[in-house]
Amino acid sequence: MHHKSDVCILGGGLVGGVTALALAHTGLSVTVADIETPENLLDQKLDGRTTAVNLASAQFFSAIGLWHSIQNYAAPINFIKVYEGGQPWSINFDHRDLGADPMGYIVENRYIRQAIFAAALNHPLINWQAPAKTLTKKINQTQATVYLDNGCEIETSLIICAEGRHSPSREEAGINKKQFSYDQKGLVFSVYHDRPHHNIAWEVFHPSGPLAFLPMLESPEGAYRSGVVWTLPVAEADKWTQASKEAIAEQLYRLFPHLGAMEIFTDVWSYPLMAQIVDRFIDNRFVIIGDAAHICHPVAGQGVNVGWRDAHELTTILTRNKQLGLDLGNMTALKQYQRGRRLDAYSIFAMTDGMVRLYSNNSKILSPIRSMGLGIVNKVPPLKRFFMKRAMGIN
Ligand SMILES: Cc1cc2nc3c(=O)[nH]c(=O)nc-3n(C[C@H](O)[C@H](O)[C@H](O)COP(=O)(O)OP(=O)(O)OC[C@H]3O[C@@H](n4cnc5c(N)ncnc54)[C@H](O)[C@@H]3O)c2cc1C
Repeated sequence: MHHKSDVCILGGGLVGGVTALALAHTGLSVTVADIETPENLLDQKLDGRTTAVNLASAQFFSAIGLWHSIQNYAAPINFIKVYEGGQPWSINFDHRDLGADPMGYIVENRYIRQAIFAAALNHPLINWQAPAKTLTKKINQTQATVYLDNGCEIETSLIICAEGRHSPSREEAGINKKQFSYDQKGLVFSVYHDRPHHNIAWEVFHPSGPLAFLPMLESPEGAYRSGVVWTLPVAEADKWTQASKEAIAEQLYRLFPHLGAMEIFTDVWSYPLMAQIVDRFIDNRFVIIGDAAHICHPVAGQGVNVGWRDAHELTTILTRNKQLGLDLGNMTALKQYQRGRRLDAYSIFAMTDGMVRLYSNNSKILSPIRSMGLGIVNKVPPLKRFFMKRAMGIN
């Protein structure tokens, strides 16, 4: 079967799916090809994570008509508290310092995916092909054609690669990447806890790695709930993955007593943590977005938000080109995308990498200095507002 679309997105995950909706919202026709079916992508076993959707991303979702089907599942983050275990200093961010909006929201990934599929699968401008794998691509001066293993041929002006961290199309295009390993894993799960979270997101730095509690909505039965990302050195993480959920919950309570006793109510997922960034974001009629382009440590809950900023920027550029009647794959437009996104992705990468390396150690010299640093940021309002804006994704 032969399809013609303005763009063809490879990968319909959190970033590819949102990009498809954003482009279709402005009148572009889109084909999405994913190796997984929507049913599989909604399976909790595959991805039971929660995501910190920052304020800028929530506003982007509103603008493309997606937020209304997510907002009922979104718990506002009104406060962020950061401290170092065993040290007296902390930073307390309060959303009221910057206005009435929360700093962001905690949403279970499955609800974001559900909203994407509900909007995309019946959208007149979106052709969703799944399961479908790319067999080959032909790219020339005037167009690109993507050949899928389900027999479809997609003729398009631009291929958008959103295949995630192991992207085969990125490798095929010969785009190099820098990779950094942290020798850490992130254990991810959700807990019930005895005390309310008051919409506070907590980040606690322990020498073994950061521990984050992300405020979720109460369960239908009224139980208090939070998402947890517990970063540990690989060997320790592997040890805890073998332990019972009760043992993990007890250890967490020892490390973090503020929410009272806890009970894990999901699986315990384990993700190797790394950072990765591509040398270039574009090729001939080819552009990379999301984790395929950049991965940062989850310490600041920024990863997918950077991907949604890729989506936003690309949508703005492509829509303008379409309105002007220009070729959507023209190099000037792609270079414009690359200029903006490279700077943003590198700065988030540097910030998260610096945080992890500064805090994930047992240094007796560094500990009081960095803890005092938190105390200083807390006392200097412009500095504090700077960090808040970064977390919220606003300038
Ligand atoms: C422990 C942990 C916690 C995190 N917490 C946060 C957080 O709080 N906030 C935040 O902003 N980010 C967070 N992140 C990062 C976030 O999960 C990722 O940035 C996000 O999933 C990236 O989305 P993506 O669509 O680019 O890639 P993916 O989610 O990997 O999606 C890729 C899609 O492409 C498909 N695909 C793969 N290969 C092919 C192929 N060859 N052809 C076609 N389709 C293909 C896949 O099926 C999938 O649907 C966290 C990450 C980790 C590991």
